Amino acid sequence: MSLDGTYDEANIFALILQGKIPSTKLYEDEKTFAFLDIMPQTRGHALVISKWSKARNLLEMEDEALGEVMATTKKVATAIRKALNPDGIQIAQFNGAPAGQTIFHLHVHILPRWEGDPKGFTAHGAGAQADKDALAALAEEIRAQF
Ligand code: 5GP
Repeated sequence: MSLDGTYDEANIFALILQGKIPSTKLYEDEKTFAFLDIMPQTRGHALVISKWSKARNLLEMEDEALGEVMATTKKVATAIRKALNPDGIQIAQFNGAPAGQTIFHLHVHILPRWEGDPKGFTAHGAGAQADKDALAALAEEIRAQF
């Protein structure tokens, strides 16, 4: 799968939106959904998706959906900042497998960063799933800041 292709209605993020697989929700409105990454690359690593757009990547995304996702990205990044006090916040988004995209429902990564920590990002995920209870506790801390 790369830049061109058909939207897969059974991709993981579509299944999360349909409630068929669980996620640790941070924020939701009519158009967008934000949740913690299951394999976080930094503490508080979050993802933001559109609830209605079938765009696989940025090049396919409706401007309206893009605006909604970015507005939510700002909201969630602000709550993460208040909750976790990072020194920086990285916003990342990948298009096509060679660019590191593994799930083909457009998503924006929010990665809080701290001075002195490694700056890398491992395409195709961190490899290890976070503890479910730890993610739930972290989400509660972040949700309290909206
Ligand atoms: P991509 O590499 O496509 O930009 O990012 C996909 C992200 O989704 C990765 O950071 C990966 O850890 C995350 N991810 C994969 N499967 C799941 C899942 O089932 N739940 C959640 N919350 N995140 C997932």
